[in-house]
Amino acid sequence: MTEPDPASPDNRHPTRAASPTAPATPGGAPPDGGWRYEPSRALALWDEREVEAAVEVLRSRSLFRYYGPRAPRHVDAFEAAFAERTGCPYAVGVSSGTAALTAALVGLGIPEGAEVVIPAVTFVGSVSAVVAARGVPVFADIDDSLTLDPAALESAVTERTWGVLPVHLNNAAADMDPLLRVAERHGLRVVEDAAQAAGVNYRGRPAGSLGDAGAFSFQQDKNLTAGEGGAVTLRDAAAHQRVVRFQDQGGQFSTSRGPGRGGPEPEGEAEVAPFLGCNLRMTELAGAILTVQLDRLDGMNRRLREVARRVRASVSDLPLEWRQLPDEEGSGGDLTALLGSRLQARRFTAALHAEGVPAHTLYQGRTVTSNPAVRDGRTAWGVRWERPPRMRTSEGIIGRSVTVGLGAAMTEADVEGLTSAVRKAAEESLR
Ligand SMILES: *Cc1c(COP(=O)(O)O)cnc(C)c1O
Repeated sequence: MTEPDPASPDNRHPTRAASPTAPATPGGAPPDGGWRYEPSRALALWDEREVEAAVEVLRSRSLFRYYGPRAPRHVDAFEAAFAERTGCPYAVGVSSGTAALTAALVGLGIPEGAEVVIPAVTFVGSVSAVVAARGVPVFADIDDSLTLDPAALESAVTERTWGVLPVHLNNAAADMDPLLRVAERHGLRVVEDAAQAAGVNYRGRPAGSLGDAGAFSFQQDKNLTAGEGGAVTLRDAAAHQRVVRFQDQGGQFSTSRGPGRGGPEPEGEAEVAPFLGCNLRMTELAGAILTVQLDRLDGMNRRLREVARRVRASVSDLPLEWRQLPDEEGSGGDLTALLGSRLQARRFTAALHAEGVPAHTLYQGRTVTSNPAVRDGRTAWGVRWERPPRMRTSEGIIGRSVTVGLGAAMTEADVEGLTSAVRKAAEESLR
């Protein structure tokens, strides 16, 4: 078996940014001149406001979040705004989505060796974070929603299970209510991997506010981006305090801003003494850029949801099966079809590429358990688990998936072009 290429766009995020000079996607090259539109999200809407925000930080010479020549404030401001948008009492900006997941697990007090159930279809960072937090990943199947199957979670639970990490894949929430019921029944902690879901809602509740903690990524391909970055959302004051400490060397420092640099400490909480942590801090540059983008987030998701809906409606007479979204109305716009077979998925992808439309099979049709390091349990600290079983159900679903890349800056002409391209490609490949 060939090694998945870690640099492959399919191993990063479903909506890759393409340029006319971008390398070919697995399964087909963009036609001469690139795609019809740029299939990126936050990046496509990037304008002078990001540039001005960044320049202002550079001129202030205050790039560190806790002190500087001028009192820094951008990460603080971003945290406050992001907490509000996600309906959580607390948000902590960090350096990446993987850092956010790790900090969330640590903040919630994951014991060493505890098992965390992860869907078989996700980015490898979900697994890395559990390993970094000294946990042990256990894998469970997805269903046609492309997210964790509540029944599969139920059967994965053992007496060693401490938590579950549902993944909101492709800008749409996992079906959280049944998952939360299973978690509650077994006393599991819930950390939402919302790396691909900033601004997404589930039945009126924001992603990141449904479990005990949420983790977001602001890497280049995500809904908000500063190139790198992440955020943890939390409901519990003590967990928040531990996350603040963990991302800042364990909270060893006091400054003019008071003890622990994390603001006021939760009252009556025992476990807030400084400890040995990590440096996962967000820079002021990232905080400033992300604050600008937060204003565009809901509009962008609304528009992409509308585009996805229009495309689906325009081909509703064709026997094309789309991913079942647990909450379409809350989604950030996903256009993923489930074809009849792997072969059909390949044909549909190639036909879309021929029309200049970006499209790919999610994670190249591979579960995260087929990653050789995940399969063999190979961590930086040696082999930590036995080979998980082959996840045939998830493999079957993911291999038939075709995600059509949407772009936040699509014009009406782009949408029309996309609609007819999808129709043409479907007619050809479903024949
Ligand atoms: C992007 C992503 C991550 C990791 O985020 P980074 O910022 O790249 O560390 C984790 N989980 C999922 C599902 C992702 O898509």
